[in-house]
Amino acid sequence: VNPSAPVGKVWLVGAGPGDPGLLTLKGARAIAGCDTLVYDYLASSAIVALAPPDCEKIYVGKKAGAHTLSQDEITALIVRLGRDGKKVVRLKGGDVFVFARGGEEAAELRAAGVPFEIVPGITSAIAAPAYAGIPITHRDHNTSFTIATGHEDPTKGFSSLDFAKLANPKQTLVFLMAMGSLAGIVAKLRENGMPGDLPVGIVREGTKPTQETLVATLDTIVAEVERTRFAAPAIVVIGNVVRERETIRWFDNGPLFGKRVLVTRARDNADDFAATLWEIGAEPVIAPAIAIGPPDDPAPAREAIRALEDYAWVVFTSRHGVDACFDALTADGGDARRFGRARVAAIGPRTAERLTSHGVRADFVPATAIAESIAEGLLERTQAGDRILVYGAQEMRDVVPDVLRAQGRAVVSVANYKTSHVRDETMARLAEETDVWTFTSASTVRSFVENVPGAGDLAQSKTVACIGPITAAAARDCGMDPDVVAQEYTVAGLVAALERVTARVLP
Ligand code: SAH
Repeated sequence: VNPSAPVGKVWLVGAGPGDPGLLTLKGARAIAGCDTLVYDYLASSAIVALAPPDCEKIYVGKKAGAHTLSQDEITALIVRLGRDGKKVVRLKGGDVFVFARGGEEAAELRAAGVPFEIVPGITSAIAAPAYAGIPITHRDHNTSFTIATGHEDPTKGFSSLDFAKLANPKQTLVFLMAMGSLAGIVAKLRENGMPGDLPVGIVREGTKPTQETLVATLDTIVAEVERTRFAAPAIVVIGNVVRERETIRWFDNGPLFGKRVLVTRARDNADDFAATLWEIGAEPVIAPAIAIGPPDDPAPAREAIRALEDYAWVVFTSRHGVDACFDALTADGGDARRFGRARVAAIGPRTAERLTSHGVRADFVPATAIAESIAEGLLERTQAGDRILVYGAQEMRDVVPDVLRAQGRAVVSVANYKTSHVRDETMARLAEETDVWTFTSASTVRSFVENVPGAGDLAQSKTVACIGPITAAAARDCGMDPDVVAQEYTVAGLVAALERVTARVLP
């Protein structure tokens, strides 16, 4: 080893049990700053996506029976990367020290002189039951819990467990990796005096839209697992706490739980939407039908930012328009002060938020986020002859400028970005595989239909959800009958409307 070579650092990061929202802030920061991400199959794509674009991502597999790299090879890999001066995140499912061999990896790093940090994660042992409405402790039922492995390893494994101590109905037992040895575990607990009617809950794919829970008793659970073909990865919870599920079940009984929801909006915009869907147990399937880019002729937008304060009002009809305006301002060496005394209008709350993030508070945001409302509001706030600058998409409807001009306002309408249809061969398959299709603009509808032959027919077996009336009209034009039209024309409004309506529409 060359002593003057840069030494890297390794972060052993617990990714949590599946729901990407359960990653810690510290874990997210480590991932966002790493050179190399070493991950296995439990890692959700939303977490892997937090890595910087130029980050090297190394998949090390580890599905039971199909190891891509052995544990020794993984350890050797992170040691080598660390020695090469890389900032490495080793991402592990759940917590790094709960049956995850993080202790061994840390010891090897120490032996090799590679600095490391441990970022604990939320273990599936606690989170999977929690998402099934099973509290790990409860005053009425237990004063301790034990987390054990049920892994059948002839040398270690569950046979080394002290079942006489475990067989205490006042203690919650949690087994990981126990599906293969469940019958043996149950038999030992019964032999040691655990009551046959003690509740058992098994939670598979906990915290994910695919979560399933099986509840039975010690005497019936093995037959139930066989009957339902209940398979790993799963957490087995044994104890009276399982009874609480009846009362506090919360995640897997929502109307959108387990539904696969197609998100067709532009990729830059999809993240928030995806996060909202995860929270309600739905699985976002991201298939951007449109992309945002610079307008065909960038000159007018470049000109406009030189004279912002000549206008009485500057109007933003989307957050992309805001971003494009501030990008142009920055490129021109300017900042928010260029707005001077011009007042600023935003079409909706998200556009207004975007302005705030650039240091500008909107003077006017209409109650309904559509062009008609912002035009009307501006008429009330201006007089004939007032100069108004309207930023928007190249293909935007002319509603705002037309209404304002008709009443004598001097309107300059500037396209500072363009949305273009995306050609994507996988979209048709994704459309088939999803339960709900969401559209957040007329252009997403039109592009989607170009990509999905027979969309109109297929739509009849899907829930079609549109962000507002204009988008819904575009869907109808394209032969799809919208099942859900949001009342508040935002993603939050769309999800709320979906939740209300799906309870009735979906099987
Ligand atoms: N370090 C991990 C455990 C790794 S061992 C943690 O703290 O969660 C792998 C076992 O974890 C699986 O066999 C299964 O028993 C359990 N497991 C991991 N993720 C799970 C999930 N989302 N739902 C249910 N069980 C899970």
